[in-house]
Amino acid sequence: MTFENLNLIEPILKALQNEGYTNPTPIQAQAIPYILQQKDILGCAQTGTGKTAAFSIPILQLLHAQQPQKGNKTIKALVLTPTRELAIQIGESMAAYGKYTGLKHTVIFGGVSQKAQTDALRAGVDILVATPGRLLDLMAQKYINLNHIQLFVLDEADRMLDMGFVHDVKKVLKVLPEKKQSLFFSATMAPEIMKLADTILVNPAKVEV
Ligand code: AMP
Repeated sequence: MTFENLNLIEPILKALQNEGYTNPTPIQAQAIPYILQQKDILGCAQTGTGKTAAFSIPILQLLHAQQPQKGNKTIKALVLTPTRELAIQIGESMAAYGKYTGLKHTVIFGGVSQKAQTDALRAGVDILVATPGRLLDLMAQKYINLNHIQLFVLDEADRMLDMGFVHDVKKVLKVLPEKKQSLFFSATMAPEIMKLADTILVNPAKVEV
């Protein structure tokens, strides 16, 4: 299995070559085709399996295909992740794999001044990577409009619950459009996680590594 076999577009294949990736990891080989078919995903995968690329690469490809005119930047994909470190890592992945796509992303998290984050949001992004607290904070201040979200990722759902973010996640879910593609990842699938997954996903493809 190669990335070419996954029908990825040239700008992304080139970026993956730059990264030195030759073959997709098992979670990538399983998840990427489903995501490109615009299916919801229930993914059981730990950090270190290549999970970030498994959702970042197809999101970039789907959004690249419908690239609007320059200047028309609305947030089309939201990645919600529990910690600042994960948010930064996902942002770095989006930057690396999306280098030749023309898509813009930014990363927001708490514990730092919001100025640089609100400046980036004002300039316009296609993809937003966020931790729940700062996201809700900037939404309340009207810096963020999630009305045009087509793709929603809940990353590390189990840690999200462990850290007490379940209410924050539900608040975010409430403002997302009904019609969207949702990708749900968790290292474990305990009953309360499955319950949350059930409220988000529609007929998901299950991927497990
Ligand atoms: P993750 O599980 O998303 O945190 O990724 C773990 C590490 O694997 C990261 O450092 C990635 O850069 C790397 N990685 C992800 N996919 C691949 C791949 N297909 N080939 C080589 N390295 C990869």
